[in-house]
Amino acid sequence: MIKSISKFTVPFAVVAVLSSSVHAQPISVNTLCNKIGAKLSSVSSSECKKLKFNKPRFYSVKGLPLLEKHYPAKKSKKYAPRILFLGGIHGDEYSSVSVTFKWLNTINKYHSGAYDWHFLPLVNPDGLLQKSSSRVNARKVDLNRNFLTNSQQISAISHWKTKAKQRQRYYPGIAPLSEPESIAVHRLIEEIKPTVIVSVHAPHGILDFDGKVTPPNKLGPLRLRQLGTYPGSLGNYGYYIKGIPVMTIELEHAGIMPKKSQISAMWVDLVRWIKVKTKSKEIVALMKETEAKETDKGHAQ
Ligand SMILES: [Zn+2]
Repeated sequence: MIKSISKFTVPFAVVAVLSSSVHAQPISVNTLCNKIGAKLSSVSSSECKKLKFNKPRFYSVKGLPLLEKHYPAKKSKKYAPRILFLGGIHGDEYSSVSVTFKWLNTINKYHSGAYDWHFLPLVNPDGLLQKSSSRVNARKVDLNRNFLTNSQQISAISHWKTKAKQRQRYYPGIAPLSEPESIAVHRLIEEIKPTVIVSVHAPHGILDFDGKVTPPNKLGPLRLRQLGTYPGSLGNYGYYIKGIPVMTIELEHAGIMPKKSQISAMWVDLVRWIKVKTKSKEIVALMKETEAKETDKGHAQ
């Protein structure tokens, strides 16, 4: 209907309002790259475009595409670890997006096919790309509290009302998976069945880890400090429901980039840990276990 309105018969302001509210034209990856380049001093729009992101499958509340890039493992690598890599789930943690882009550039150049990488460098584009960036998404939901919780646990909303003292920045939403951005991550977890999920945040300056495999004790300058999980968080979901280790990289500053040497040291430690784990019996056992569970599910249906 909106399309049939001629802009020659309707005042410009009305057309502008209509078109901005209905998202008749989905925003392209290139347009989003321009917005990211304008917002972040450490990521240029051409750097973003050069990464040639996959055709968007998921969108934010405001209709921005969630950038997605898949680097598949070689077919011959049956038990290649699958890594789901997330940046910018909190929109005001700028460095988490910028550093993820730097690592994307690295993998883009050196991907060998030994591992299967799946990147979402900006899970919360609405939070980042507004005048004043926010932790929460466009509906004021903390996406990292919007995942499913175990039925034996306190719900995310009850936790927020009591323990989190109803602070707006931790609002978990009306129900788990009420937001398109967390649904996208949830669907990708179902699709990829990652061996490990890596999520980049700031500014606690530590490495957090939830999972049953042995974590690395450092990533570059970040030392391991396991903080525990909150209901509705990705770490909580990965650990208690899916049995997938979740590595949370908490960069030291939200608005200041780590040094180049630190960015590469973190990457080297991460890849080394994955490499060691690939050969270790515990991660292969975990992958086989996931596969067996999936087969069981298939039989039950
Ligand atoms: Zn965060």
